[in-house]
Amino acid sequence: MRTAEIKRRFLAHFEANGHTVVPSAPLPAISDPNLLFINAGMVQFVPYFLGQRAAPYRTAVSVQKCIRTPDIDEVGKTSRHGTFFQMNGNFSFGDYFKADAIRLAWDLSTTPVERGGFGLDPERIWATVYLDDDEAHDLWRTTGMPVERIVRRGKADNYWSMGIPGPAGPCSELYYDRGPSYGAEGGPEVDEDRYLEFWNLVFMQYEIADVASKTDFRIVGELPNKNIDTGMGLERIASILQGVDNLYEIDEVRPILARAADLTGKQYGVHSGPAAAQSHPDDVRLRVIADHVRTSLMLIGDGVTPSNEGRGYVLRRIMRRAIRAMRLLGWQDKALPELLPVARDCMSPSYPELAADFDRISSAAYAEEDTFLGTLRAGTTILDTAIAETKKAGRSSLPGDKAFQLHDTYGFPIDLTLEIANEQGLTVDADGFRALMTEQRARAKADAKARKTGHADLSAYRAVLDAHGPTDWLAYETLDTESR
Ligand code: ATP
Ligand code: MG
Ligand code: MG
Ligand code: MG
Repeated sequence: MRTAEIKRRFLAHFEANGHTVVPSAPLPAISDPNLLFINAGMVQFVPYFLGQRAAPYRTAVSVQKCIRTPDIDEVGKTSRHGTFFQMNGNFSFGDYFKADAIRLAWDLSTTPVERGGFGLDPERIWATVYLDDDEAHDLWRTTGMPVERIVRRGKADNYWSMGIPGPAGPCSELYYDRGPSYGAEGGPEVDEDRYLEFWNLVFMQYEIADVASKTDFRIVGELPNKNIDTGMGLERIASILQGVDNLYEIDEVRPILARAADLTGKQYGVHSGPAAAQSHPDDVRLRVIADHVRTSLMLIGDGVTPSNEGRGYVLRRIMRRAIRAMRLLGWQDKALPELLPVARDCMSPSYPELAADFDRISSAAYAEEDTFLGTLRAGTTILDTAIAETKKAGRSSLPGDKAFQLHDTYGFPIDLTLEIANEQGLTVDADGFRALMTEQRARAKADAKARKTGHADLSAYRAVLDAHGPTDWLAYETLDTESR
């Protein structure tokens, strides 16, 4: 079943059950100063859950575009994490609660495909519930699920709150057993790759106070209006229904991966079996490329442009990681003009605006690649030399001033220096780098002040001198002026 069809069925199922279909919010989380990007379906509904605004509907359904940058290190290595993904969700604002949420999720998951559902084999579905949530436990039992497949888990896994006083509650997750070739038997607590989490149901039923952390708080009472918030990973259910090993192989992602493999002459997936953990590094890189190119498309599509701070910096890092992975696989030419149109063709059936807007999106993307290739050309030789010198000197850490010089003179981002150094088995003296960055900021501030007043503010230089002592000017003796 194609991803676009899964999305359609999800919306149709809940619409038929009285839910209002609400479009996805754009990826930048403008309404929340603590969040760069929307990371769950419920984010656009937070004011309703907190009772700050009255919901214009009692129940809603959406397919929300999400970005989770904290998952970036998992991408390509696990079978189930993307930096961009889509979250199918159904929501109740003081309307139905646990019993209906469980029944609606179960029905859609197990109704046969020919009758509009996803047709999952009930024997392969496991559920987790919060330790003392007997109600949820018993509701899953009414579906016929045996007690052995209902696992009780603690606060870290199965409790939801915003980490602030307000609504909170237990959650219950659905897992699909992909079978013995994916890992050890025993349920989600044993192997989260074999048992793939695909749906999380949050039951907002309590009010909490004295919140020290997400797992340390006091329940002060029941909420007058109990809410439901669920999230089903669209790519995860697609990977199950399409019978592929991971979410980089579904219809919306695989063509990008295939194109990258073609260009670089790599054969994807010949090195390993289904368990993603055994993957060959080339395969991991191809998955990273496919994921990151799609994420870049979606971010630029929603108005983000590459820059050195905030949302633009996240985008820049993701784009540059994809471009560099292509180079590591041997592709020396521009990569995005080859890959981005493929991503557009994958995603525009669900998001036609991407095709309509592609001139704008691709110009921004291709310009960023040009800038980055210039940076790479200038910085790589210098970094390679510094790495060789560090190794020759028998040290395991690249000096902070080298990292700083690369950043300051060549615009070589520190995370790239870190990544390349790590690949070469070195760490980077991050403290030294940070100290130089702080000095530079102080200097810039002093210069700005001097420009305003006409007088240099020497106090900043004083602070640098106090912290580090005087420097000897050795350039004439030590610099190789011939090569300049
Ligand atoms: P995991 O434990 O696998 O990291 P999670 O518990 O962090 O997932 P939730 O916060 O419960 O995920 O989000 C709801 C649903 O969204 C998950 O059940 C999953 O289907 C999907 N999901 C979460 N993170 C990702 C991701 N990085 N890529 C794709 N789908 C995701
Ligand atoms: Mg997670
Ligand atoms: Mg989880
Ligand atoms: Mg979860």
